[in-house]
Formats: sequence, structure tokens, C-alpha cells
Amino acid sequence: MSQELPKAYDPHGVEERIYSEWERSGLFAPAGDGEPFCIVLPPPNVTGILHMGHALDHSIMDAIIRRRRMQGYRTLWLPGTDHAGIATQNVVEREIAKNEGKTRQELGREEFVRRVWEWREKSGGTITKQMRRLGDSVDWSRERFTMDPELSRAVRKVFVDLYDEGLIYRGNRIINWCPRCQTALSDIEVEHSDVEGELIHINYPLSDHDGFVTVATTRVETMLGDTGVAVNPTDVRYQKLVGRTAILPIVGREIPIVADMAVDPAFGSGAVKVTPAHDANDFEIAQRAGLDAVNVLNPDATINANGGKFEGMDRYEARKAVLEELRSLGAVKKEERPYIHAVGHCQRCHTEVEPWLSDQWFVKIEPLARPAIEAVREGRTRFVPRRYERVYLNWMENLRDWCISRQLWWGHRIPVFTCADGHGFAALDDPSSCAECGSTELAQDPDVLDTWFSSALWPFSTLGWPEETDDLKTYYPTSALVTGYDIITFWVSRMMMMGIHFMGDVPFRDAHIHGMVRDFRGKKMSKSFGNAMDPLELIDRYGADALRMTLLRSATLGSDVPIAEKWIEGDRNFANKLWNISRFVLMNLEGSTATLDSTDMYRSRADRWILSRLDATVAAVDEAIESYDLARAAQMLRQFTWSEFADWYVEWSKGSLHGAGEFKDATRAVLTHVLGTVLRLLHPFMPFVTEELYRALTGVETIMTTPWPRPDPGLQDRDAETEMEFVMGMVGALRRFRADHKIAHSARPDAHAELEDTGLAAILESELERVRVLAGWGELALGSTNGHGGAHARLVVPGAVIHIPLAGLLDLDDERARLQKEISALEADVAGVERKLANRQFVSKAPEEVVEQQRERLSESERSIERLREALRDLEG
Ligand SMILES: [Zn+2]
Ligand SMILES: [Zn+2]
Repeated sequence: MSQELPKAYDPHGVEERIYSEWERSGLFAPAGDGEPFCIVLPPPNVTGILHMGHALDHSIMDAIIRRRRMQGYRTLWLPGTDHAGIATQNVVEREIAKNEGKTRQELGREEFVRRVWEWREKSGGTITKQMRRLGDSVDWSRERFTMDPELSRAVRKVFVDLYDEGLIYRGNRIINWCPRCQTALSDIEVEHSDVEGELIHINYPLSDHDGFVTVATTRVETMLGDTGVAVNPTDVRYQKLVGRTAILPIVGREIPIVADMAVDPAFGSGAVKVTPAHDANDFEIAQRAGLDAVNVLNPDATINANGGKFEGMDRYEARKAVLEELRSLGAVKKEERPYIHAVGHCQRCHTEVEPWLSDQWFVKIEPLARPAIEAVREGRTRFVPRRYERVYLNWMENLRDWCISRQLWWGHRIPVFTCADGHGFAALDDPSSCAECGSTELAQDPDVLDTWFSSALWPFSTLGWPEETDDLKTYYPTSALVTGYDIITFWVSRMMMMGIHFMGDVPFRDAHIHGMVRDFRGKKMSKSFGNAMDPLELIDRYGADALRMTLLRSATLGSDVPIAEKWIEGDRNFANKLWNISRFVLMNLEGSTATLDSTDMYRSRADRWILSRLDATVAAVDEAIESYDLARAAQMLRQFTWSEFADWYVEWSKGSLHGAGEFKDATRAVLTHVLGTVLRLLHPFMPFVTEELYRALTGVETIMTTPWPRPDPGLQDRDAETEMEFVMGMVGALRRFRADHKIAHSARPDAHAELEDTGLAAILESELERVRVLAGWGELALGSTNGHGGAHARLVVPGAVIHIPLAGLLDLDDERARLQKEISALEADVAGVERKLANRQFVSKAPEEVVEQQRERLSESERSIERLREALRDLEG
């Protein structure tokens, strides 16, 4: 039945062996006919490597999934990866440039896309291998990729449907543009950082020669595209200018001066240049005021024909040349340099991003957002913690239309076709002729879709939509989404819109939002700060179980998650502790098959106590996980296992195991039961070590599908808990006395305990030998102090006074000082409580039991002071 365990725990051998056994067994796939439970994994980028954020995210999901599986749910955790348009395209472009010195343009679109697929075959599996190291119990047989044929079909159908419903349109808008990647970027793909620039104040002469209006800019070259000047309508300095015009220097264009509330009168001169083609706010001002947009930049950020004699210059070159020209015209009022300001950079190539007016495809958001807002208001999707509902709603209520086209080659190509006559239409299958005129001269839109377009469909595309598969019927809506708060806006909101629109129901019932992993000081982790941690290195060093346990117990609901390597080391020690307890239990079973039921009448007080504490722990842990508070569950489990089970009960049991007969069997049954239950409760947190130990303890094939523990009210025993607290208090006091006085380990001092008449005397009597052994004491007797003679110490514990003869044991002056210190501390406490009780407001407003508690505390402290004073007198002999 049970097997021999090696002396020390070696996570490496064990973790790798167990994972491949699990994977081979097919147990990650849903089984049975229980209620369905499903999580779809937020797909990591196919270029990705596992970072601490994934490690946290996946540990949370795996813990939730493993508990549900043990509870008998038909549990599916569906994995997959994202094609990650721009990220992957750049990785492959760089590789080709390095190895062959070629650009993607030189290869051509078809060949380049073939190379990306080739790269994906070869290197795209890194992150899925790393997920196995972490222990993710995902169903690999259902693994998906956003560019799989079935998922691409789903993407295309969604596009065509939205297009035909009039919810996708072509628009000329300001987008973030990377001049190097030559594509539109979403806000999340733009990183803002401070740069040293310049702020140039320019005088624009008024057309009627009545002076100037001054504007300021950090990008002087964009003035070539100015089509207006704007001021705030409430700004009295400029009221007389509104409606007049100015002459744009160099260009000579006459531009109107308009009023707009968006202008901040406190910034610069209070007047701003309006460059609709190169600034998002200016674009909106221009729309309101009816101003034209003049685009002066080519896609590569060189000046185009609208820039006159600057045409062909790079933007930075033009910045210098335009400034030089303005200076020579005497139009520069002031130059501020250096001027530190934040500039957006391309996340992938770090080039400065240009806000740029271009033709793009957009999704009309308002009709999609409305039902997605209602769904959350009505509680059909529940945010955990609740406060993230606000973040979601704020975002949804202020959403602009979504720019979905990207000027990339890697991704889902936009299925819009245009014939020679200019008829445009979207098609589910590649058409051979124009639907309107029959022309066979068709061209497909060259752009691809934003990566987030396909991830928005992930909860149903992965389950087989648009086919009505069994999986789709069984698992949609999915049970829970687990993700960081940073992508509520980009991902969560879009899944909600698409899920409701195409499936008629929300994509997930619960959205569990967690924080970001930080260092132990709370600082963001990053390579440049030098505080980044690599989860794989940590797994190598301490094992996946230790890393998972630290992440989970640090992940306080919804808050950021501080991590220190020391804590992971501590959880490696915890795994070792579990290992050692298990070895102890196995060694002492000696083939006993005693069960809890067969031995229940022979249980000792300690047996009843640990079973009662276990029962409370089972209930509390279960409740915490149910409400997604995995940190609290992990902390309680760790505390129970280490302190109550290992440090107290296991030590305590050593006495019974030396005893005889039925009592010994009862203790064995309790040890086996508590250990088995603890291993099952810990399995979702530390899957590997618990699997290895549970197999050794029980001989079952796997812990993964054993039933999740449930509370058993029959094991609750309040009396045993009270009595053991009293006895443990006694042991604790004796141990503390040793430690406080640095009494040698080998010393075996004597003592006797004088009990208050609380009914506990009989209990202590029966446990006296155990107390003596656990505290490492010599003679321990019950009775009064009469006749001891000489100086002695008093230990005051609730319900008893322990007398310890001091001759030859310790220095009397030190002991005097110690007692005095304890008395002072208690006196301060008494004074505090008295102040509280003298406060009429407190006494009348606080709940009665709180006031009562304070009164009890006061009399308890006063009694203790009295006894400590007696102890002081005892020292005099
Ligand atoms: Zn770029
Ligand atoms: Zn046509």
C-alpha cells in the first residue's frame, strides 16, 4: 500500500516525472457527467516566454481548476496562444535581417508569411513548454492558436457579419502610427517616456496686420499642416480675436482663429495651433469647427508634397530646417530648451510614434457597448473584487470607435474586396467575381486585423463557434475569467461585447481580476530596475510548488502582489516540512490499517483537538477559495500544517506512538487522516509534492481526482480545543522561560504547577507527562508551593501559576528585572483600558460585548499584576 520515501525531497526529478505522467494519463481533459466548469486561458503571445505575470495568472487558474476537478465538476481549462501580429512580425523580420540581410519587402508578402509560420513551428512552443514546468493542468488536446483554420474562420465570420450590419466602416481618423513598422498601433502598443526636446513659441501675424497671436509646439515641422488657431471662449484676452484670421508663416495660408472649450487657457499663451492631421485633440477641434486637415507626413515620417520645399526631408531634419526658416523670418518669439516632455514610442521597435491621420477600418462601438454595460449592471457577469466593475463601466461608457486595421502582413487579412469599378464588399469565402457587377478584377484589402480582434472572440471561437459543437453548448458561457487589471479595457471589455453580440450571452460568469507582481518593496519589476525575476530560474532553484505557493499566498484579493526570493525559499522549506511529516507518518504506520471510524472511542484529547482544528480549516479554506480569496486559503493552510499539525500534533503523537494498543492505532488513524486531508487541500496550490506524497501515503494512482475534502461537523470538539489551548499554553510558558533565560538545552529544571480552581486541574494532571517532555523539563509536579523554600520564579499563565526553584538555575537580578518589565507592560495596558472605560462615548457607543471584553481584560491584567508582584516577593526566598 504505502511506499518508502527518499530522505530528502528533490523537486526536479519529481516535478518533471509527475507532469509527464499526468499529461499521458489524459486526466487534464474533462471527464464524468458533473456540472461543467470552464476557464479559457488568456492566450499568451506565441513569441512569449513565461514571466512572473503569467506565473501568477496561471497559478491562480490552476488552483481554481484543480479544486473543481476534485469536486467532481466536468472541468475544462482550455489553453492556446495568440499570433500577436506586430510582435511576431518584428521578431521574424529581425531574424531574417540578421541571417540573410533581407527585408520583408525584399522577400515579398507570401514568402514572408510562410517564414512566420515556419518560425512558429520551430520556436512558437517555448511558452507552452514552460507552462508544463509550472504544472498547468490544461487540456492540451484542445490547444488552440488564433490563426488555426477554425479560429480564422470565426474571425472572418465576425468581420463579415459586423460589416453587413453596418458596424464596421472605413474612416479617416487620427491613429498612433509607427513610421518604422509602418502600421497603426493600439494605445497598449505605445509606451510613453520622457524625452529632452524643445518648446518653440511662434508668432503668427494676424491677417489685418493688427499684431500677432503666439502659439507653442514641440514638433515645429507640424506647423506646415496647421489649419487654424484655437482659444478658449472664456479667455477674455482673446475674445476679440475669435472669428478673425492669421497668416501661417512660411506657408502663407490664411487660417481662422476659433473658440473651443478644449483649449486650456493656462497652457502657454492660451492660444494653440490646430494641426488636425497630426494631433488627436486638434483633430476633434477641427471636426467641431469645420477646419480642413492637411497631412504633411508620408508613412515613413518624411515630409510629403504638402510640405512644399521641405518635401522629402525626414521629420527631425525638417524640425531643424523649419525652425531655421522661422528664425530668419523673425517669427520665433522664444525657444525653451531642454524641454522635458512625454512622447509615445512603439512598444516593439522604440521608434517615436506619430499621431497620424489615415484611412482605417473601425468598429462602431456604441451599439455593442450598450448591452455589455447592461450585462454587468444586471450582475450577469460579476467582477471579483467588485471595485473593478467601476473601471470596466467607466471605460465602456467613454469608448471611442475601435480602429481594427493594421498595416502588417502577419495576421487575419481583412476580407474586404473591391472590384475595378470600386464596388466594395466583405466575403466569408474568397470571391471570384464582384457581387454587384460581376467583374472578376478583384483586389483584397492589404491590411490585417488588430490582434485583439481575434482575442475578443477567444471564449467562443476556441469552443468551436460558428459550428454548434458539443463543447460550445456545454461550456459557454465559461465559468470564470482570470486576468490582470491591466487588460480590463483592451480585452475584457471586447470579449464582453463580442460574446453578447454573437452568442447572445456573456462570455464568463465571473471576472476575477488580480494585481501585478512586484518586488517586495512594492516596486514594479523590470529589467532596467534590475529587480526582475525569472520564474523558470526560480523553479530550477526551489521547485514549481514553492514558487506557486509564494505567489498565491501573496496575492491578496485584487491588490498588487509583492514577491521576495526569500519567501520562495521559505515555501521550499514548507514543501520539505510536508515531506518530513509524511516520512514520519509513513514510518510509524507499521502496516496499520486503522481508520478514523474503527478507532473513534480511543481518541486522546490531542487527537480530538487536531481533528476539530482540521475540520475548521477545511471549512474556512473551502469558503475562501469559493470566493476567489486564494491568498487567505493558502495562508490558513500553511499555518495549520506547519504550526498546529507539524509543530504540535506530530510532536504530541510521539508519546502515543510509544504507547500501546488501541490508543496507538487511533493516533495512527488520525495522523493518516489529517495528513491525507492536508495534502488534498494543498494540492491546488502545490500540485507536485502533494501528488508524490499522497501516492506514497495511500497507494492511489493520483491525487488529482480524489474527492475534495468537506467539513464534517462530527469532528468538531470545542472542549478538546479549550483544553488543549490550556495545555499548550503551559508548554509555551515553560519553553519561553527557557528561551528568555537562555537556560542550557541539556538542563532539566524542576517545577510545580499550582492550579486555579477552573476544572482544568484534572486535565493537566492527565497531560502532565507530555507537557514535561515537550517542554524539556525535569520533574513537573502539581500542588501548592508549601515547603519549596528558597528563591523561585513564578510563571503566570491563564488558569495556573508555575513555580520554578531558581537555585543554580539563573541569576536573580536578571529575573527581578524581567518581572519588573512584565509588570510595567501590564500596568500600561491597564491604564489604557481604564481610559477607554472612562470614556462615556466609548461605553455608550461600542457594542456591549466589546465593552464587556474590555472589562474582562482589565480584571485579567490586574490579577496577573498581582501574581507577578508575588513572584517578585518569592525571589527574596
Ligand atoms: Zn515600430
Ligand atoms: Zn463591381
